[in-house]
Amino acid sequence: MKTTDKANGSRQSFRGQLTLLFGGLSLASLLGVGVYVGHIATGELARFGGELLHTSARSAADLLATNLRERAQEIDLLRQLALFTRGDLSAQEMRQALDLRKTTHNEYAWIGVTDASGRVTQATDGVLVGAQVEHRPWFQSARSGLFVGDVHEAVLLAKQLPNRNPDQPLRFIDFAAPILDEQGQLRGVLGAHAHWSWVTETVESIVVNRVGQHGAEVLIADKAGHILYPFQHAGLLNLPAGASPQAQSERLQWSDGAEYLTSMVEIPTVAHTDLGWRIVLRQPLDKALAPVKALRQQLILLGLLTALACALVAYRLAARISRPIEQLARAARMIENRAGTPVYPGDEHASEITQLNHSFQSMTASLLERERELSQLNISLEAQVAERTQALHRANQELENLAIHDALTGLYNRRRFDEKLREYVQLFQRTGRTFALLVIDADHFKHVNDHHGHQAGDAVLQQLAQVISGSVRITDFVARYGGEEFVVLLPEPQDRQEGRVVAEKIRVAVSQSHFPAVGQLTVSLGMSFCSLKDTSETDIVQRADQALYQAKQQGRNQVVVATESA
Ligand code: GH3
Ligand code: MG
Ligand code: MG
Repeated sequence: MKTTDKANGSRQSFRGQLTLLFGGLSLASLLGVGVYVGHIATGELARFGGELLHTSARSAADLLATNLRERAQEIDLLRQLALFTRGDLSAQEMRQALDLRKTTHNEYAWIGVTDASGRVTQATDGVLVGAQVEHRPWFQSARSGLFVGDVHEAVLLAKQLPNRNPDQPLRFIDFAAPILDEQGQLRGVLGAHAHWSWVTETVESIVVNRVGQHGAEVLIADKAGHILYPFQHAGLLNLPAGASPQAQSERLQWSDGAEYLTSMVEIPTVAHTDLGWRIVLRQPLDKALAPVKALRQQLILLGLLTALACALVAYRLAARISRPIEQLARAARMIENRAGTPVYPGDEHASEITQLNHSFQSMTASLLERERELSQLNISLEAQVAERTQALHRANQELENLAIHDALTGLYNRRRFDEKLREYVQLFQRTGRTFALLVIDADHFKHVNDHHGHQAGDAVLQQLAQVISGSVRITDFVARYGGEEFVVLLPEPQDRQEGRVVAEKIRVAVSQSHFPAVGQLTVSLGMSFCSLKDTSETDIVQRADQALYQAKQQGRNQVVVATESA
């Protein structure tokens, strides 16, 4: 019982071990697959995010380039009209033509023409007419060909034009082209300033729709990497040194300290002018990787749930497998503890289990049968042993009886007499309890044997023993001393006279008895009393013997009481 409990406590059940094993295995394999799939999926997601940034940046760059190119072409076509090549550059029609353009395309802030010396001859809304612009880069460059200029703040115009964004300075990009006469001589320059906000709106319209909701931000940087747009970053934020237009997207640390997924695209050349602008899209890394993180969490959750489900299934399965074994174990425990009738599993289980069950049952049955036989054998053996022990006891008692009795007369023998005498002497010495000894000897017994045979002699001895026993008290001790001699121990005689009376009584009883084989018989008796002067047990016997001898001497058939030794 103790061992069983210990085994249950220290070791896990079969069912628990199976569940742990299955659950652990499925968790490990699911996690393995989950980690692998997660790795691939997150890689793909990150790549997709980068691609989205890149395609958005490229679309914005392409659209911007297209718009710029269209504006440049428009200026180029305009300056070839007859009004420009032959007409009066300061005429009213010129102003109407320019105003019409500006009204049609509200990205223009100002369109004007100059003469060959750089004096503004006509302009939209008459702004800057008469002003000298010969030092302006657009005028300088446009004298020799089509010009698309970088963004700049317009000092002269700013004072005369309304500002769309009051918190930012007015900024423009310039388009300009030479006005040539029919001989190809420079008549003047046609110039236009487009609002910078037109450029940025173009870019934003593309980007905000596509990636704006994921925290992506669009920036426009110039050749040197300075931020042109948005205005709040201008002069504060630079492109990271490692940024490369070749990479689709890369993780970069920006000067504002945060890490961004960054994609950069260069704007294609417009009208032979490389503005060197770059559209940059950046997305905070945590936002860019948010879907990846979410996917990873979902995968982990899914893996855990599936493992749990697997463990549950494994538990059910393990329970099914282990139930018959548990039943067998319970049955074995019941048999071990002899606790009622065991319940065995049915035959609906796997063949090995059924086989085990049958073997166990038949083994148990044969063991129990053997045990029953053994216990029956044990019972009968115990009965036999008890019987034999009793017989032995009886035999011992008989032996003991034989050892202290005389076979012929049935009286106590000499051996028992010696013991009894020792007891009487010791008791007398210790407590003062007195006793007397009587020695009785048949007279002329040799004669009986000689004349009537030994067997008749034996019969006489037997009868003599009965006569002596019948003449004394039950408390007196009678024994055959040997041959035809008998002894009697009389405990606590009142006085010597009482002893003599008992002796006389015996003598008379014998002499008056009829012995069938021989007729009459007499006995002589010697009597002695215990004495404090005695030094050994045999002293009292010697005195009685002497008294007996004296009785024989004096003619037999008489009692002689020994005098106390001096
Ligand atoms: P006394 O009067 O002097 O005693 O003479 P007695 O013949 O009796 O004495 P004695 O000692 O000479 O003889 C004793 C006889 O008793 C001798 C023996 O054959 C006989 N005797 C002793 N024991 C037995 C016995 O067990 N059976 C028989 N039948 N005779 C016995
Ligand atoms: Mg004798
Ligand atoms: Mg005799």
